[in-house]
Amino acid sequence: MRKLALLLLFVAFTTTAERASALSADDLATREGEIAFGQAWLKSMRSRLGERIDPFCTDLLETWLTRLKNQFDLGTMPMTALCLNSQEFNAFAAPGGIVGVNRGVYLDLKSESEIMAILAHELAHLAQRHHYRGLRNSERMSTGTLATLAGVVAAIATRQGQAAQSLIMGGQAANATSALAYSRDYEREADRIGVTALQGAGYPPQAMSQVLQVLSEKQSQSTRDLAFLSTHPLGIERQSDLDARVAQMNQTDTGTPVLSAVDFSLFRCIQTEGLQISYTTNPEANCGSIHKILELYRSEQYKDALVLFDQLPLSTRNTFSGLDIEIALTIKTGDFDRTKQAIDTIALFYPSWLQPTIARVDLTIAQGIAELPRELREHMVQRPERLDLWRALARFAQAFKQDHLLFEARGWDALLNGKLEASKTQLSRARDSWPKSLDQRPLELLEKAINQTESL
Ligand SMILES: [Zn+2]
Repeated sequence: MRKLALLLLFVAFTTTAERASALSADDLATREGEIAFGQAWLKSMRSRLGERIDPFCTDLLETWLTRLKNQFDLGTMPMTALCLNSQEFNAFAAPGGIVGVNRGVYLDLKSESEIMAILAHELAHLAQRHHYRGLRNSERMSTGTLATLAGVVAAIATRQGQAAQSLIMGGQAANATSALAYSRDYEREADRIGVTALQGAGYPPQAMSQVLQVLSEKQSQSTRDLAFLSTHPLGIERQSDLDARVAQMNQTDTGTPVLSAVDFSLFRCIQTEGLQISYTTNPEANCGSIHKILELYRSEQYKDALVLFDQLPLSTRNTFSGLDIEIALTIKTGDFDRTKQAIDTIALFYPSWLQPTIARVDLTIAQGIAELPRELREHMVQRPERLDLWRALARFAQAFKQDHLLFEARGWDALLNGKLEASKTQLSRARDSWPKSLDQRPLELLEKAINQTESL
């Protein structure tokens, strides 16, 4: 299944490659080039990544990444966080600050420190320019088409096994696999630099060892994760290298995590809904009641779900993850005062988060008030790459039958998913139906983004 998806990726790239001019690894040499490449790569990959449209998860991941980013020499590189649906224990970084995390990692991670260790490792790959260096190391890959370069980046970023790599690249580009020859050294380097950053950000460096311990355990398990293991054969070896390093590190005070321990456990339960938690060493990670609440929610038994939620200890309900569940439930049961209070609490602590604004959109829909929250437009100007914003606009447009907004939302959705022609069509529909008296700037914004994509 995974291989098929990657094969499709290659096919998709080959069909668009004709009009793409020759690119070289040097396009990744500057941070600007890297960001432009990364955004183009994301557009072509996005619909195949299995993204989870979960504003809370995305905001949280962004907050974690921002906290770590200052520990690296990454300048003003923007961070694009992607919450992914895959059950596999994996995360990846792609050029230009794109970081994706599978929800499968939460099956095994027991603390925020451990997810931070994974993110620190991924950001270290970016800070050390491993994609660029990997491409440079392969002479025959010094120039190529967007198809071949993007294929290599996809392979490095998602670290697929050898078989998958040949599938991605095929034919002439098969030589490019040598670009990955240094990946073992890169893994060690990312561990080493990542663990220092982890400590600098106020987390115990031991968390990196714990993550490598999980990798080692997976190694000794069945052949289930074969593709993953074939590219990460060093779990045990990496761990002993790292343990020696961690032992030499000075003990420093650890900072306050973004989520409390109870909050993280709850977040973990939400992320692993429908999955079987494999290591239940942590009694707090008992997700039974949370999964039951979510199950009732999915089967539209909102009142029963809320009753169960209200039976949870106050310390569990009064977490950010708890508030996120409360918002979803009370919007459906019509307890709008509770919804508002929960939204305001999150917004108070995290003013930059998009989740409260998106929740306000859904609240207006539930209340039948056809008025877009003012700050939604501001977020759209600043963070147009956030798919969840446009999905919220589409829900609003559909609820109140506002076609011009629906076309706008679909135009962005298509653009972010690499469907340029469809995006143009939606833009022209939006233009035709846009009320004359209305602010025209949203149309200009979409047009500008389309033109930017086209010039790449
Ligand atoms: Zn790595």
